[in-house]
Amino acid sequence: MSAPSVLERIQALDAYAPGLSIAEIRQRHGLDQVIKLASNENPRGASPLAQEAIRRHAGLAFRYPQGGNPRLTEALARLHDVAPERMVVGNGSDEIIDLLIRMLAAPGEHSLVCCLPCFSIYPIQARVAGVELRRCALREDFSMDFDGLAALADASTRLVFVTTPDNPSGYCPPRADVARLARLLAEKAPEALLVVDEAYMDFAEDESATSLLADGPLPENVAVLRTFSKSWGLAGLRLGYGIVPSSLADGFWRCRLPFSVNVLAEEAALAALEDTTFRAATLATVRAGRRALADGLARLGCRVWPSQANFLMFRLPKGHTARTCFDALLRRGIIIRPLTSYGLPDCLRVSVGNPEENAAFLHALEEELRATEDA
Ligand SMILES: *Cc1c(COP(=O)(O)O)cnc(C)c1O
Repeated sequence: MSAPSVLERIQALDAYAPGLSIAEIRQRHGLDQVIKLASNENPRGASPLAQEAIRRHAGLAFRYPQGGNPRLTEALARLHDVAPERMVVGNGSDEIIDLLIRMLAAPGEHSLVCCLPCFSIYPIQARVAGVELRRCALREDFSMDFDGLAALADASTRLVFVTTPDNPSGYCPPRADVARLARLLAEKAPEALLVVDEAYMDFAEDESATSLLADGPLPENVAVLRTFSKSWGLAGLRLGYGIVPSSLADGFWRCRLPFSVNVLAEEAALAALEDTTFRAATLATVRAGRRALADGLARLGCRVWPSQANFLMFRLPKGHTARTCFDALLRRGIIIRPLTSYGLPDCLRVSVGNPEENAAFLHALEEELRATEDA
């Protein structure tokens, strides 16, 4: 007897490589204090009102959530001034990405187009679903080649993914270019949904000038994704949302597992939406920290790419290797993100932390660069 064998396409997968956890590094290096700047989490933690809501509703943990999370979808529809019928919520935007792929694309029949490199959940879940992947390389400066993306799409294409601001570079394409891509796709690939992942959009200098959501009604073939994991400070509770064409929302609710957004995540999100003080503080902390980190990295001789997100991608000065530096920072209790899994072994990504974390990171990096210079 033997256990059934896992599908070949699953065996061939490289699993998503998450940022290392604080507990892991504390234990491995025997450290008391570890700073994590690896997963673009909120530098101010979770909103106090959200924490209070979790405590207040802890006793409800024995109840199933209300099917379809109507209170949450209605609150989000009000936030973005869209019809509630178009709002979907999931266990992180990861779940929404996965479901969109499985709802729209049939294995061995349809194709999905995304950038190279890009947020790795899109290609991983495409492979899980057995969908053909077509990838368009980013330009040298990490801007997106939208004509190239559109050229890869055809009648078989069911999904095209664009992240703005992009992960891991932080690049934010002009909104007019994204809108133009939607028009190009409507002609070339009439069955394709353009998924615009705006996970980091609220950190942009001027969200109203760059978000598709602030530009009138969305084109018919566009879905926009947002998440509570970054600016709303609830990554551990797993909650994302999407504004999708209403026919798709209908399909979404049919195939989403009924209770994937849990009771406490829902209550915490509703409270976080009310916590305008925390939210304003978060955005201010990130924008100021982003400038401080970019200046500090440049001062150390690093190449830093302009970012509209809550992280920065950078390359070390000549003579230093990213992997060595990443490991050395780990030993000092600072976790950042190597980009080998994105195919960028020379680059590193650091999340914007609070002022103390940013300073500790820059200080450790400076010492490390000096130490390896001497060696
Ligand atoms: C962090 C991130 C998300 C959010 O994922 P969740 O599942 O909502 O935590 C989505 N897209 C991109 C590009 C991200 O970097």
